[in-house]
Amino acid sequence: MRTLCLMLLVALAGCDDAGDAGDAGEITLDFGRADAAPDGGVDAGRADAARADAAPPDAAADADTPDADAPDEGAPDAASPDMGPPPPPDHPLDALPEVPFAGPYGTRTLAVHAGTNWAATGLYLRAGQSASITAEGRWQVGRSFVGPAGNPALGQERGCDKGGLVARVGLRFEDAITCIGAAGEIVAPRDGAVYVGMIASTDLGEAYGDRLQLDGYLDVTVTSDGATAPLVRVRDLDVGALAAIESGVVELVGDHVIVATTVAEVERDAETVVAALGTLDAIWETEEALRGQGPFRGQRVRFVEDETIVEFAYMLAGNPIRCAPDLLHGGPDQRILRAGEPRTDIWGFAHELGHVFSFANGTWVFQYNNVEVFPNIFTINVLQTLGREAFQPNIETYCDGRAAWMADGDYPTFKADPFLQLCFLMDFTAAYGWEFWQAFYGIIDETPNEQIPVGGNPEHANTWGFLRDAFSQAAGEDVTPIFEAWRVPLP
Ligand SMILES: [Zn+2]
Repeated sequence: MRTLCLMLLVALAGCDDAGDAGDAGEITLDFGRADAAPDGGVDAGRADAARADAAPPDAAADADTPDADAPDEGAPDAASPDMGPPPPPDHPLDALPEVPFAGPYGTRTLAVHAGTNWAATGLYLRAGQSASITAEGRWQVGRSFVGPAGNPALGQERGCDKGGLVARVGLRFEDAITCIGAAGEIVAPRDGAVYVGMIASTDLGEAYGDRLQLDGYLDVTVTSDGATAPLVRVRDLDVGALAAIESGVVELVGDHVIVATTVAEVERDAETVVAALGTLDAIWETEEALRGQGPFRGQRVRFVEDETIVEFAYMLAGNPIRCAPDLLHGGPDQRILRAGEPRTDIWGFAHELGHVFSFANGTWVFQYNNVEVFPNIFTINVLQTLGREAFQPNIETYCDGRAAWMADGDYPTFKADPFLQLCFLMDFTAAYGWEFWQAFYGIIDETPNEQIPVGGNPEHANTWGFLRDAFSQAAGEDVTPIFEAWRVPLP
């Protein structure tokens, strides 16, 4: 099963260097270069911005809870199931426009937050169809205000001034974007749903938290005679009614995730679709409990099909999480709309979410030695918590290389093998419990990337030294003996 795992593990890594998809160690090094590329302002204060903006949107929910005095008035017993908490509020960064199942789309105005990882407009265009888009308001890049046109002083991305409003058809990785600014038009290069947002970095950069330092809303008005791409809440789902959707596409909206799919796929998996979204939400909630906060400031995380990634990856972390077509349309043990079924392989879904949770506050340099290791801490925790260890082959094999490494393995083997490193990390779980990781990520939340050392001898031994110190703090005792037992280099 290693072959399948490594395909999954390529995920975030492969996108930076398609040619080296199988070499996790090589890819990891490229990440530093990729992240260093954005203009100078991006990295400064990233972690602080994340914390400042990470406050959960609970105020509205609290206002809606029943009056605390109510039990005195003879209200039903608080233990009654009817007195449960209200459903979670929508996150203010989510864009969930309500559109009819059939067009024409007409004219709609949406509030688009700069931090939103691509706001759905609810519009679906066929190739050659167009939409006109206007925008007003100001949003923020770090401490700088920008209008809808952005600011050329921030640089350009894919031909558009950074900080500006752009539109795209579909969410293919690093696909073309159309510069909109205060007013513009998008002509669809292919059939697909239309998304808008501030352009501030690459799609890869967004996976690393580049949107955490963006703020403010624009009012964006979209006009088109195209069809619609409806968003349907899974708790309101009536599969039979979806046949009325003219475009044949739909986004299923859970509490924490969105699955962009087709009506045909929902109809095929009508028996399992609700449980599937429930499982994906449960994965998100389990990982949030371990991490202490949600990624992308609590936005829902969207899963989309992207056939352009298959030459270098099976899935690609970020928001959206990009998936090979088989994950939408493939076998019964693969399909995302069967994620709740015991035999469906959910390792990849949990792993990709593990990437974005592990980067939740924008701090990622602690993963410099192999970015594919830490996400699987989340994966294993999810499989145990949800009782899904059966039929997930990696859970049985990830420590298979342990004895050979302990006997006489060389360090490059350890550095390149995410499962061997996972086996090492899981020794800390065994010694200190899952609380160890909660404590560790509490430390990460207080540590900006700039404070994490790289370099050393062998390469990046200094980063292992940082982890040794952070792990010791999380464990409440010196964990150097575990590092030494595993022969992990320290500065
Ligand atoms: Zn990965």
